[in-house]
Amino acid sequence: MRLPIIAGNWKMNTNIDQAVELVKEMRDRLHGIDGVEKVLCPPFVSLSAVKGIIAATSVRLGAQNMYYEEKGAYTGEVSPNMLAGLCEYVILGHSERRQYFGETDEIVNRKVKAAVGAGLLPILCVGERLEEHEAGKTEEVVTRQVREALVGVDTPDGLVVAYEPVWAIGTGKAATGEQANATIGLIRETLASLYGADFAAGTRIQYGGSVTAANIAEFVSQPEIDGALVGGASLKAPEFVSIVEQTSRVRRR
Ligand code: PEP
Repeated sequence: MRLPIIAGNWKMNTNIDQAVELVKEMRDRLHGIDGVEKVLCPPFVSLSAVKGIIAATSVRLGAQNMYYEEKGAYTGEVSPNMLAGLCEYVILGHSERRQYFGETDEIVNRKVKAAVGAGLLPILCVGERLEEHEAGKTEEVVTRQVREALVGVDTPDGLVVAYEPVWAIGTGKAATGEQANATIGLIRETLASLYGADFAAGTRIQYGGSVTAANIAEFVSQPEIDGALVGGASLKAPEFVSIVEQTSRVRRR
């Protein structure tokens, strides 16, 4: 049984005070929900404050990005070692990083290697763009992204993959549960071909893209989908709590 994981990607939203307020609004209710791993990914500047507020709860912390070098003259960047000890997870290869900051599969691969080396658990994002989706290239793109991100990576225990079709992110046009389930099944096959059937069967693969309290049940009731990476809806405490609660309920059936 894979423990479902719901992660909230706050993106570039909230200052420190707002982050503190938001996490205080959801902390106790999230803590009380069993059977789901709950992860909050605030901006870098708020990691420390949020860490203090969720200490001694079952809520985990993740960063949204990192650089792959250990230290040095990389002005503005944050290294894996700076995050290790501060948070457990790190989102890597998010489509917004690929789109706006030129992250290639090779860069994502370097980041995955560096994160694993520092003891961080990557939430590796993959997903096809609209034109690729319409050209029937979903399988090709997603399989390539997974393979290339993991080149030279020894069995990455604890890896989480997030399948996020780019056309569904922040658009209000989510994939269907069936579509996402089928692609996630292919990602699992790719993981099996790289690391064996047991690894693939034990690795959690989320869906991401316009997940809300109104559609989460459709996703987490699919056999291959192990939770969600949630953007916009993770900034509203009652909605995020509802997403986690519904996941717990659906997966207990
Ligand atoms: C995301 O940021 O990973 C995401 C899926 O965003 P949204 O839920 O807003 O589509």
